[in-house]
Amino acid sequence: MPYFNIFMTVTGASLAGLMLLMLITSLIEKRTPAVVKAAVLMLICTVVATLPYLLDNTYKGLIIAFDSMVILAGLYLFIPRMFFKTYNEALASGQIDERTIMFSRNELKPNTQQYQQYYQMHPDHLDNDEKFRKLPGLLSPQSTFYNPLSFGATDALFHIVDGLHQYVEGQAKDISHSITPDNYGQFIKQWAKKSGAVSIGYTQLKDYHWYSVGGRGERYGKTIERKHANAIAFTVEMDHDMVAAAPRSSIIMESANQYLQAGIIATQIAMFIRNCGFDARAHIDGNYQVVAPLVARDANLGEIGRMGLLMTPEHGPRVRIGVITTDMPLPVENRKYDNSYEDFCTKCLKCAENCPATAIPEKNKTNIDGVERWQINSEKCFNYWCSAGTDCGRCMSTCPYSHPNNTLHNMVRWSIRHFPNFRYWAVKMDDFFYGRKSSPAQLPNWMQTPN
Ligand code: SF4
Ligand code: SF4
Repeated sequence: MPYFNIFMTVTGASLAGLMLLMLITSLIEKRTPAVVKAAVLMLICTVVATLPYLLDNTYKGLIIAFDSMVILAGLYLFIPRMFFKTYNEALASGQIDERTIMFSRNELKPNTQQYQQYYQMHPDHLDNDEKFRKLPGLLSPQSTFYNPLSFGATDALFHIVDGLHQYVEGQAKDISHSITPDNYGQFIKQWAKKSGAVSIGYTQLKDYHWYSVGGRGERYGKTIERKHANAIAFTVEMDHDMVAAAPRSSIIMESANQYLQAGIIATQIAMFIRNCGFDARAHIDGNYQVVAPLVARDANLGEIGRMGLLMTPEHGPRVRIGVITTDMPLPVENRKYDNSYEDFCTKCLKCAENCPATAIPEKNKTNIDGVERWQINSEKCFNYWCSAGTDCGRCMSTCPYSHPNNTLHNMVRWSIRHFPNFRYWAVKMDDFFYGRKSSPAQLPNWMQTPN
């Protein structure tokens, strides 16, 4: 059999195999339209694989043309990233005043001194904030996605997270061991992973990691003391099915659940470090002194994407972050900038097109306060949360990087990072199989209530 016939058979069979993997994966993920599309493509690829046996020599030219097309497409799509120019890394910006973030503004009570002082400092925020104060608010029974079960569970989970706040700080023991930074680092890394962390890294703290002034609870209005040199950042995975139904109520329950898991891991590590004789503070939901995504980015856990969240290699933005700051000597690493996320976000735009509040920019990065970056409109985003009753998460659920952690999606994520020309087609494939603007999934059955 001529080589060009064998090539066509092998190519067709390989693509059919890939479609079979897509079909099985989609069946497991219960993505019916993707199952049908994969089945049709698998059939076409199987026919292509058998064509050399069906056609006579008159069609030799057709087969050679097919082979040439496959070879050229393969060469084009899989040119390694080393042959492409890299983007410049976004430079660090100044510090953020925590009082300006939406959660802090949401806690301001009209007719209080804090309220008056804040809007004297930021009169431009008043109009918008008066709008969200008139909306039902997070977890409200009047909100669009009210669900008594999941809202009740979310409230319980956040209550337990609040209970952890008493453990974030403490007195270090008067003790010293002759343990190396590498030993400490290895122990903490393994323990965090056994406790449920997906990824963990160490970084040196810079000024821009810290909020300048506290904005919530007892920290309100107080200058944040930058007392630690190092940070540990880790991620925990958010359940794919709970995220897929975003902005329905499963998203906020899952956020609360993973804030709790991250809170437990962070407080136990902080307490352990204090037991080793070093100062440490856990930064958990509602109690941050640092900007967690920036710390995690600099600990090499991922990059900040278009939607403003940390994009991780394992689960994209479908994670929550925990941070511990400390003076414990740790094996800190230098930041390794990975421009593949920025390049992919530049081509993708899916979150921006699916955001119900049009809060995510569709343009390329722009210069904001001297830094090239994407900035979401946090006011539009938070206003939407206040009518939805949940923390939305539609951007997270539609991101092509958020697919479950399995062979097929890991292969695609890996290829996106390593082959720049593949990125555009990865977006197109994602659109083809899952839809450019698909509807949110239904709540998992166990969360549904009778109407
Ligand atoms: S949806 Fe696309 S553009 Fe948005 S963060 Fe994910 S990869 Fe980037
Ligand atoms: S959470 Fe929702 S409203 Fe906010 S940016 Fe994401 S998609 Fe838009």
